[in-house]
Amino acid sequence: MNWKLISERVLDGSTITPAEALAILESPDEVLLEVLQGAYRIRKKHFGNTVSLHLLRNVKSGKCPEDCAFCSQSTSAINDVERYDMQTVESIVEGAQAAVDRQAKRYCVVSSTRAPNPSELETICEAAIQIKQKHPGLEICSSLGLLTEEKARKLKEAGVNRFNHNLETVERLTPLVRSRARYRRSLSVLGKAHAMVPDGRVSTKSGIMLGLGEREEEVVQVFDDLLAHQVTVLTMGQYLRPTVKHLPVVEYVRPEKFEEFKRIAEEKGFRHVASGPLVRSSYRAADFKPESGRRKA
Ligand code: SF4
Repeated sequence: MNWKLISERVLDGSTITPAEALAILESPDEVLLEVLQGAYRIRKKHFGNTVSLHLLRNVKSGKCPEDCAFCSQSTSAINDVERYDMQTVESIVEGAQAAVDRQAKRYCVVSSTRAPNPSELETICEAAIQIKQKHPGLEICSSLGLLTEEKARKLKEAGVNRFNHNLETVERLTPLVRSRARYRRSLSVLGKAHAMVPDGRVSTKSGIMLGLGEREEEVVQVFDDLLAHQVTVLTMGQYLRPTVKHLPVVEYVRPEKFEEFKRIAEEKGFRHVASGPLVRSSYRAADFKPESGRRKA
C-alpha cells in the first residue's frame, strides 16, 4: 500500500476506499510511521498543530441493563471490557486532576447505566462539587443515562456543565437497537435537561449512528424531534459493529450523505452539527460554543 499516495489523494479532496480503510486498520507495526506521516499531513492541513484535550472517565463500566444491541458495555456483551461499579468520589476527583495535569479543557464523566441511582447520583454530585472547588475552569460533561428533572437540577447545581444523551437511532429502529429504551422518553430527558439552563446556554447534545437501516426521512424526523426538545448540538457517525455478536451494519453511508444531512440539520436550526463516517459522540466537543443567538424557528 502506498500511504503517501493515499494521503495525497485525500488532500486533493478524494476519500479512501473501504479496502484502503481496512488496510490502514490491519497495517503491521513496521509501517506505522509511514501511516502516521500520511495521517499527519491530512491533519495538519485541516487542524494545524493545535489539539484540544478532553479527558473521559468511565465511572461505572460494563453490566449495563439497558442491553443495547450495538454496545460492548451491555450486560449480555461477551468481551474483555472491564466491569466495575460506580467509582468513589476520590477516584473521580483524581481523574479531574489528571485532566488538569494534561491541560484538558473538559472532563467527561460517563457511566454504563440505565439511570444513576440515588447513591450514584450523590457520588457524582459530590465529586463535581469538589472538582469545581479545586479546578473552577475545568468544564464537566456528563453522560449518565436517564435523568429526571430533579436529578438534572442536582447535577447542574453541583457544577456539571453539559448533559449528553444519545438517541442513537431513529424512532422505528429504537426497539431493535436499544430494546429497553424508549425514543420518546429519551427526547423527554433531553428536554428536561435543557430546562435546567434558564439563560438559554446550550447544555444538551445528542447523537445518532447511521448505517443501521434508517431511512432518510426518518433521520430528518430525528432532527425535528430534537429541535422540538431544544437540542441544538448534534453528532452523526457511522455505526461500526464491535463484534460479530452485535448488530450487523446495514449500510456504509457515503461521506457525501453525511454532508447532506449536516446541511439539512443546520438549515433546520441546529447550531452545531458534526457529521461524518468517523464522527463519534464527543467529536470536537470543544467547538460547541455557548448559544450566541436564537436558533431558526
Ligand atoms: S445505555 Fe449506554 S452503556 Fe448501556 S447498553 Fe446502551 S449504549 Fe451501552
